[in-house]
Amino acid sequence: MSILVVGSVALDSVQTPFGEVEDALGGAAVYFSAAASFYDRVNLVGVVGEDFPIHYLGFLQDRNVDLAGLQVLPGKTFRWKSRYDYNLNTRDTLDTQLNVFADFHPQIPEAFRDSTYVFLANIHPQLQLEVLQQMRAPRLTAMDTMNYWIESEREALTRVISAVDIIIINEEEARQLADTYNLVRAAGAILDLGPRAVVIKRGEYGATLFYRGDQPIDFFFAPAYPLEELKDPTGAGDTFAGGFMGYLAKEDDASAAALRRAMVHGSVLASHAVEDFSLGRLRDLTWEDIEARYQLFRRCTLF
Ligand code: AMP
Repeated sequence: MSILVVGSVALDSVQTPFGEVEDALGGAAVYFSAAASFYDRVNLVGVVGEDFPIHYLGFLQDRNVDLAGLQVLPGKTFRWKSRYDYNLNTRDTLDTQLNVFADFHPQIPEAFRDSTYVFLANIHPQLQLEVLQQMRAPRLTAMDTMNYWIESEREALTRVISAVDIIIINEEEARQLADTYNLVRAAGAILDLGPRAVVIKRGEYGATLFYRGDQPIDFFFAPAYPLEELKDPTGAGDTFAGGFMGYLAKEDDASAAALRRAMVHGSVLASHAVEDFSLGRLRDLTWEDIEARYQLFRRCTLF
């Protein structure tokens, strides 16, 4: 199988109580690819400016990430600046400079159009729809979004949600999207729009899968791994999505049982991503590290 991801490739400046980085490698498509490439071949579509140090992506190429869909345009790369307080579940976005990302129009290379698994990272919902239209016959599609699009592009966003199989969003976005505080009701309302499953990410409280199964609404809960060393939560959500989609693509299985195991793979990858700044940990992670933590997840949820 192969996985297509479309999303931001960025230079992030991040401060947390445990340190800071400036113009470090980031972006939703990068975190996603770093995780998903442990499982299957990844086709990345994005855009950077001429200032982007392309060697930053060398470790992804070594892991079978195809960068043929990465456009390099005159101008500057997308930059994002944020600060986390001791409550690492919330962050302040200090600055967003879209630069070349402002005019991003995803062109899916011919060779990528047969990708079987598709992840639409957080971009304008209209562009997410354009990506879906360019794909031939994906077996499974998933998407992310953000509060900005919920507020400003609800109609287009609703169309994408209706068109994908799975939506992976954080809890505040789920509440905002469904206009209710109650997450079970929010998930139900989102499932009513069309997707088969909704994954709600809850930061250090883990992630919950909601789907229509034996019950009108079925659940699966994956905890976040209790870490002693946590430096930077940036990218945890996209890394989760990469582990989740990567596992499904590798198994080529999207049954309820596979979705549940994918929730744990997503959580395993995200738990590693936050151990260092930027892509620091995902860069030198090994398959053995992933398997070992998967077993720890099994231990801490078995009763
Ligand atoms: P996460 O922590 O999973 O929400 O993802 C953070 C990543 O998303 C960072 O590496 C940012 O570069 C990227 N990002 C932040 N804002 C945006 C945006 N408006 N559009 C696309 N990507 C963004």
